[in-house]
Amino acid sequence: MKLHEYQSKNLFAKYSIPIPKGSIATTSGEARRICEDLGGKAVIKAQVLTGGRGKAGGIRLVKSPEEADEITTLVLGMTIKGMPVRRVLVDEAISISKEIYLGITNDRSIQRPVLIASGSGGVEIEEVAIKMPEKITRLDIDPLLGMRDYQIRDIALTIDLPRNLWRAFGETVYSLWRLYIECDATLAEINPLVITADDRLVALDAKIVIDENALFRHPDLADLRDIDGEDPAEIAGRKFGISFIKLDGRIGCMVNGAGLAMATMDVIKFLGDSPANFLDVGGGASAEKVAAALRLILSDPNVKAILVNIFGGITRCDEVAKGLISACAEVKPNVPIVARLVGTNAAEAQAILAGSPLIFADTLLDGAEKVISMVRETA
Ligand code: GDP
Ligand code: MN
Repeated sequence: MKLHEYQSKNLFAKYSIPIPKGSIATTSGEARRICEDLGGKAVIKAQVLTGGRGKAGGIRLVKSPEEADEITTLVLGMTIKGMPVRRVLVDEAISISKEIYLGITNDRSIQRPVLIASGSGGVEIEEVAIKMPEKITRLDIDPLLGMRDYQIRDIALTIDLPRNLWRAFGETVYSLWRLYIECDATLAEINPLVITADDRLVALDAKIVIDENALFRHPDLADLRDIDGEDPAEIAGRKFGISFIKLDGRIGCMVNGAGLAMATMDVIKFLGDSPANFLDVGGGASAEKVAAALRLILSDPNVKAILVNIFGGITRCDEVAKGLISACAEVKPNVPIVARLVGTNAAEAQAILAGSPLIFADTLLDGAEKVISMVRETA
């Protein structure tokens, strides 16, 4: 779950990471007043759950409360990467002498958190990573030992940080690490962390992503969720207790069990096609849940055919079959559906589906082959 910059900065403040003075505004009048309080100069920052706001014109320096008013009106009317700007952060304007990149994330390949830092931070960090990878330093963190002082000194050295800022830098890195661990973050990023003209370190931007699976132990963070940045189908799925992740292929998949869903996607890939989604209807899926899942899959215009792959353990295949029949009656799918239902009450399921337009398959491989050949016929 992504947090907005202002929400991330509130967390920074709790962890004593220095941030600019500022407040959130939802109207131009509010922005004007905040700008006044900040002494007449400010930065107006669009709050949307995406990066590259600067380049999109969503970060604007203003030199008077009147200008803050005008620019906020403009920014609140913007849509950045498909997301409407509903709030702006009005921060004190800071004179920058150097921009640093600092981030912590998980590296799955080494099963550890990794700290990434660069003395060339700012809006071009992706370019730097591609063109001058030597300017980016990474440091693996032992999850049991945590961040060590010597590691922080190493980083300070490699990014050419002036000596007088080492102590402040060490505190910031260590605080970011504590925040990362204590909040169950999967990303905690400051870009840029700036050295100001008056020689202080300040986090000018903030980006935090929280592990959704850990939200149950952070109710305060769970409350910060903004569904603006999320796929509507994924939100609908969550409502029905269905794990749904949209992908960019053309074969819709309805499966029970995450492992079986992964295997189903693998087989489709193996046969040279591509899945349109990951979907796990979960154990003991009821007819209503199956119907909701089918509607979810069909809400994606890229879907050209659907493969239903159910292993009935606790889940009863006849329930799934009933769900499919009633869902088809309701949503009238215009794409072929191949169903492989095995396990508890599979025979009853077959009887229920007899006479329906659904195509039966005996094995996963058979089902995948059938669904792919149907897509190829219609394509
Ligand atoms: P992003 O583009 O979404 O990553 O948004 P950022 O918050 O990182 O802002 C983009 C860029 O705007 C930063 O890298 C800075 O160069 C600039 N910027 C942001 N805040 C200030 C500020 O207070 N003063 C100045 N001079 N520049 C700023
Ligand atoms: Mn940034």
